[in-house]
Order: sequence, then C-alpha cells, then structure tokens
Amino acid sequence: MTYDLIVVGGGAAGFFAAIETASQKPKQKIIILEKSTKLLSKVRISGGGRCNVTHHTFEPSPLSKHYPRGQKEFKQLFRVFQASDTVTWFEQRGVELVTEADGRMFPISDSSQTIIDCFMKEAEKSGIEILTSTEVSSAEKVNDTFSVQCRNGKKYSSRKLLNAMGGHPQPDAYGWIKSLGHTVISPIPSLFTFNDPAKEFADLMGVAVQDAEVKIAATKFASRGPVLITHWGLSGPAVIRLSAWAAQYLHEVQYQFVALINWTGSLTEESVRTLLKEKNRLEGAKKVYSHPLFHLPQRLWEKLCVKAEVPLQMLWAELPAKQLNRLVEFLVRCPFQIRGKTTFKEEFVTCGGVDLKEIELTTMESKKVPGLYFAGEVLNVDGETGGFNFQSAWTTAYIAAHAIKVPGSEKSS
Ligand SMILES: Cc1cc2nc3c(=O)[nH]c(=O)nc-3n(C[C@H](O)[C@H](O)[C@H](O)COP(=O)(O)OP(=O)(O)OC[C@H]3O[C@@H](n4cnc5c(N)ncnc54)[C@H](O)[C@@H]3O)c2cc1C
Repeated sequence: MTYDLIVVGGGAAGFFAAIETASQKPKQKIIILEKSTKLLSKVRISGGGRCNVTHHTFEPSPLSKHYPRGQKEFKQLFRVFQASDTVTWFEQRGVELVTEADGRMFPISDSSQTIIDCFMKEAEKSGIEILTSTEVSSAEKVNDTFSVQCRNGKKYSSRKLLNAMGGHPQPDAYGWIKSLGHTVISPIPSLFTFNDPAKEFADLMGVAVQDAEVKIAATKFASRGPVLITHWGLSGPAVIRLSAWAAQYLHEVQYQFVALINWTGSLTEESVRTLLKEKNRLEGAKKVYSHPLFHLPQRLWEKLCVKAEVPLQMLWAELPAKQLNRLVEFLVRCPFQIRGKTTFKEEFVTCGGVDLKEIELTTMESKKVPGLYFAGEVLNVDGETGGFNFQSAWTTAYIAAHAIKVPGSEKSS
C-alpha cells in the first residue's frame, strides 16, 4: 500500500503534522506508525497530567531564548509559527488555553486529555490511519518512493516521509536515521535537579528562596530565579534551567561539580559585606540569628550562621571579622558538592538528535534525502521547562506539514 505521507511516531509532533498536512488538502493518504501500544503518551503525562502546551511569550526572538539547543534556528522558525499561533490553532479546534502567572499555558480544562481528544478527533475527521505496535526499523528511498520496514515484518511505502519519533536516551534508536545519511548528535539528558549526597541542607527540605543565583564553579554557567532545597539536594526553576544550559558540560564531568549559590540573588560580595557591617554598627544590640537578611527564610539564615560559626547568642555588635567574612562567603557563594542528578518530576528532554545543519529550515526537509522531513524532539533542539518543548514540536510540525506537498495535493483555490 502506498501512502502520500508516512509519519513515524504517534506523539505530539507526529499528530500535529499529520493533521496539518491533511488540512492542506483532504483525501491525502496519511498514516501514522507508532512503536508502542499507546498514542500521545507524553502528552498524557505532560505537565503533571495538565499538559503545558506552550508559553505566553508571543515574540519570536524572546521565545527562541528559551532553547539551549536550536536558539538561532528557532528565532527564524518562530517567525512562521510561534506560541500565539499555537493558541489560535487550538482555539480553532475548540480548545481554549489559559495562562498561569509564570507564563505557562494549559488547556482551560486543566487536563491533557483535552489535547489528546482534540488530536484524535481531528485525525479521525481527516481520515488519518493510525497503527500502534508498529516500530519503524529502517527506511530507504528507491526512485521517488520511500520503503519503510517495520520490526513486525510489515512494509509500507510513501512519497513523503516525516520522522517525528521523539528523543531517545539510547543512540541505537537513531540507527536508521544515520543509515539514511544523517548526523545524529549523541543524545544526553536535559532538565534535571542536582544531588548533594552530603545532605548538609536536607533538614531544610521544602525551603525555597525566590530569587537566588546558581552558578557552576569554574564555568560561566549561571541561572537566576527560585531555588528549592530538597531532601536529595537542589531543585527549583533556576536549577532546572541551569541543567538545560549546562547539559553537555555536566554530562562531560559526569555530574560531579560544585554548585555555588548566591542566596541574595544579585548582590556582590562587597555590597553584602557593607550591609553586614552596617548591621554591626547600627543594630548592634540585635542577635545575628534572630534577624535574617535579604528576606531569607529563618531556617536557611540559621543554617548559614551555623556554617559561618556564628555563636547562637551573638549580637551584631560582637560579630568578629572572621565570622562576618564567613557569613558573606556563605551568602554569596554557598558551595554544594554535587554528585549526580535526579529527573525533575519525571520530566526530561533529550539534548542531541538530528543535526539542524542538515535540515532546510524553511521546510524541515532533509538536505540529504529529499522527501524526508523531521519534526519535534528527534531534532537537536530542546528547551527549558514551561511549554517550550511542545512549542518546538508544534512549530517544526507546522512548517513540515506546509512543505509536504505531494503532487496534486495543493489546496485548490
Ligand atoms: C514526563 C514528561 C512531562 C513533560 N511535560 C511537558 C510539558 O508540560 N510541556 C512541554 O512543553 N514539554 C513537556 N515534556 C517534553 C515533551 O513531552 C516532549 O518534548 C514532546 O513530547 C516531544 O514531542 P515529539 O512528538 O517530538 O516526541 P514524542 O512525544 O516522544 O513522540 C514520539 C513518538 O514516536 C514513537 N516512536 C519512537 N521511535 C519510533 C519508531 N522507530 N517507530 C515508530 N514510532 C516510534 C514513540 O513511541 C513516541 O510515541 C515532558 C516530557 C516528559 C517526559
């Protein structure tokens, strides 16, 4: 059976692309081949079952700044289809998205099932065939036709082939793409939290600082925002964002590094020292322990005082220079010996994948194999948390769908 389009992968990008391609002209023969028994499984579990569909950043350039891999390319791609287009796309199909205070956008139902229902309904309406338990194991192009071999022994052929097989931790999963001549940048994880086996701060589990800066010692990697102390180490948006930007470096050092936290957010060592000296001078009769500075939670402030060897009853006026300097140090450069990582709420993305240099960005078509297209996380693109990873899937799927033009399939005007 020959199809106009075979889509490999029944996930976010695969469904979006198949539906959008079908909308270009009805009656195209489109099939989605899905390896597992479940469709849209990541959409289902995404955002804690709520599906963080996109982010309320409606300008291509600022939106692209949330992508450690693909930033330059996505600045261009978002000019074609960006977050506001996603909102419209879903709205046109009866799904309203709402924005939370931090910019994340969810279906108003607060359930990923709404997104799944939308895709399933649209796919059915467009007559898209879907096969589960059908893993593509190889593909070759003979003349103008792709021959797609599946692990269950079935073979399918098509004029166009869209690879939307997502990200995979195992390099082997990309074997058949390499066989087609593509370069695959080794997949490694992104979006994780930091493990601190010393657990010196573990008794502060649950304590959060809204504006701190986390740095990776001896590098330029730094990220600012909320930091959460957990029973295993450090988490929170600033840590997870840092894990994305430093994903390759942290993999190289096997997740053994020193994280330095500036609990004041932006203050320099000098300005913190000046502030502490002022306390010493102006509020000398007050106990150091009882008066946290920089809006730090009391328990964290006490912990930093303990580390600085400030005696419990000491007054600001009595604070010796040595302890004051130690306190400054722990306030602006609090060190954590990180050993390993933990996945953030099971949410992760793959850093690595098909090299974007080998993709024609105006069409998402392979520069190596005409007629082969890519969309979603299979590409070497990944974003921060917050809806950015789905957004790159929708954008690439949209662009591919509009470029996949089977002869005679153009919309008649
Ligand atoms: C727990 C979790 C929560 C997340 N939450 C969010 C969120 O709220 N917001 C956000 O933006 N991002 C989130 N992400 C990331 C987001 O889910 C992915 O970036 C997105 O699903 C990528 O879409 P995709 O279609 O490229 O890949 P996928 O959704 O992974 O789909 C690929 C599909 O291809 C199939 N497949 C693979 N190989 C083959 C093959 N050889 N043959 C046939 N089929 C194959 C897979 O089984 C899969 O169904 C989350 C990720 C996880 C793990």
